[in-house]
Amino acid sequence: MELLNRLDAQLQTLAQQSLVRTRRVVDSPCGPRVRVDGRELLAFCSNDYLGLASHPALAAALQEGAGLYGAGSGASHLISGHSRAHAQLEDRLAQFVGAHLERPRALYFCTGYMANLAIISGLTAGDRDAAIFSESLNHASLIDGTRLARAAVQVYPHADLEALAAMLQASTASTKVVVTDSVFSMDGDLADLPALLALCERYGALLVVDDAHGFGTLGEHGHGALEHFKLQSPYLVYMGTLGKAAGVGGAFVAAHETVIETLIQKARPYIFTTAAAPALAHALLASLDLLEGPEGMQRRAHLQALVAQLNDGLRLTRWQRLPSDTAIQPILIGDNAETMRAGAALYEQGLWVGTIRPPTVAPGTSRLRVTLSAGHTHADVATLINAINALERM
Ligand code: PMP
Repeated sequence: MELLNRLDAQLQTLAQQSLVRTRRVVDSPCGPRVRVDGRELLAFCSNDYLGLASHPALAAALQEGAGLYGAGSGASHLISGHSRAHAQLEDRLAQFVGAHLERPRALYFCTGYMANLAIISGLTAGDRDAAIFSESLNHASLIDGTRLARAAVQVYPHADLEALAAMLQASTASTKVVVTDSVFSMDGDLADLPALLALCERYGALLVVDDAHGFGTLGEHGHGALEHFKLQSPYLVYMGTLGKAAGVGGAFVAAHETVIETLIQKARPYIFTTAAAPALAHALLASLDLLEGPEGMQRRAHLQALVAQLNDGLRLTRWQRLPSDTAIQPILIGDNAETMRAGAALYEQGLWVGTIRPPTVAPGTSRLRVTLSAGHTHADVATLINAINALERM
């Protein structure tokens, strides 16, 4: 068939550019050690930053939730799928980050991808006078949100607040929305949220913060980037994901109750999809208790110690470190094929590190993306450091 031939040709082009993505089948729970093809690997590629994905308390809560609510929700939230577990989780999430928002309310989503589509399209769809200002390194789901909204979008260069200020000043739009990752997912650095918020308040713009990689890891109590920077404003629209540090799945938006009610009424990615299994929401209640309590604090402290160990131990001359104090630690290689060879060489030694290429990152900036987890030990990180230092010298 003609169409299949064309698709095949496109796939071959991807292969020639070392851009084919593959999946590996994992036969064990997510954790620092995973089993693939009968081998045990030391994995530095998950977003399970606190090592909670395989925590017995969460697995038990998931089972308990299935006992209470069954396997599935059966419908979308606005029909009959909104269970007591979802409602309890939303109330708890509103408290979890609520100190930073005015009249806080939270809304639970099946995934962060959908939450981001919903925020951007729900706040601006159909509004001819809306303008979105988007950071150049924002996650794909935020970019896709702007596409769904079909609103006017201006992209400001990474961390360039002067450029953003000039755009906001020149804008005549009555609805202005600034959108940024808090922790940039492929670089690991933090957005200057206090300065961004000051700009937004000055120009009357909402600030949408995607804290996928900060929720649970940043802030003394794990409340995320808002706690880390001690922010408080009615202009904040906060998105946190629950499948990374929180160890389960899904995401939430927290904001002023008017913003949340707008999303419920208008955001198609919220309205037209089946609610996540209530058991997940039930397990997440247990996860929030862990995150906020002494165990969460201890796990965050250990994670920071591992980040410092990696930062101190890597001695690179050819490849480049991107400065990052978070669990996301990129090593810039540049060339796609060389990045794949580096990933394969580590894999041979039993170390699984993510290899990131375009279009996830800009052409010429392919990289190894090491992610650390509180589940790792200092010995695990020492093994990784030695392997990367030796590989770079080969
Ligand atoms: N935002 C960012 C910054 C992310 O890194 C991700 C996931 N990789 C998402 C949103 C999407 O979240 P989810 O995986 O829950 O769909």
